[in-house]
Amino acid sequence: MNGKTKTYGIIGNPVSHSMSPIIHNAAFADLNINAAYLPFTVEDVGNAIAGVKALSIYGLSVTIPHKESVIPYLDDVDSVAKKIGAVNTVVRHEVDGDVILKGYNTDWIGANRALSEVADLEGNVVLLLGAGGSARAIAFGLKQAGAEVILANRSVDKVAKLASEVGCSFCELSEIDKHDFRIVVNATSVGMAPLENITLLSREQLEPVEVVMDIVYAPLETCLLKEAKKAGCKTVSGLEMLLYQAVAQFELWQDRPAPIEVMRSQLYSFVATKNDK
Ligand code: NAP
Repeated sequence: MNGKTKTYGIIGNPVSHSMSPIIHNAAFADLNINAAYLPFTVEDVGNAIAGVKALSIYGLSVTIPHKESVIPYLDDVDSVAKKIGAVNTVVRHEVDGDVILKGYNTDWIGANRALSEVADLEGNVVLLLGAGGSARAIAFGLKQAGAEVILANRSVDKVAKLASEVGCSFCELSEIDKHDFRIVVNATSVGMAPLENITLLSREQLEPVEVVMDIVYAPLETCLLKEAKKAGCKTVSGLEMLLYQAVAQFELWQDRPAPIEVMRSQLYSFVATKNDK
């Protein structure tokens, strides 16, 4: 690092568990970009954004609990992020000498790119489990990609509201069997501790399905993904969504292709080391 090093970072609370510094610093190093990506524990998001401008921080990831509350402090927000109502990426643009901080959402891009590695989204029917923050971003993203989305969630009021905003159909978890779908995405916290031995769909229900993605990435192979493999489905781990949302952030900040394989290998080896401890 020297006087020309550009600073990037992540704001959230907590941020100590974040794997984003691992992924982004690996990408900077691989492409010899003189930049550093740091974690910032933030309570007051408004002051943090003023600080980003004042300190000439070049790009920001935003995580829980600030993805929604950051929006009023930004100069501009991309149209899909606006619909989702959440921003996980801030880009510093300089327009006629003025600094503009613009918000984007790359969570949906991450989910779409991870799924697109193994399936066509356009015209395909996707069962999306969940109606929380992640399901919301993914639902808007799948619509953006031309998929037909069926939302299913434990709390019916919540899923009905989300479905009407997205413009898609919905059902209760107990009514899933009434629908046909080729792709399943789990965007609930089921599969993660303390729900690590639970799956919302059985092996029999997964048999007609082509592709299953679980956005839960701890454990790496969730109960749902294990059952999906046994049912003969292609499976996509939540780490791929995490990877591709970071890839999209890198590409927004640097305006050049990200070194995906380097980012992937750093991420997976970090997770493997963590799991060994
Ligand atoms: P959230 O907003 O809190 O939503 C949680 C969702 O899980 C809700 O739909 C909730 O249903 C459902 N749920 C929780 N317990 C359940 C149970 N016992 N049975 C059925 N449904 C249950 O959380 P989020 O931010 O969307 O995150 C969801 C998961 O995604 C987390 O595990 C998180 O770690 C993971 N994630 C992964 C990535 C990635 O890049 N791979 C990114 C973000 C998040 P109700 O509405 O009925 O409560």
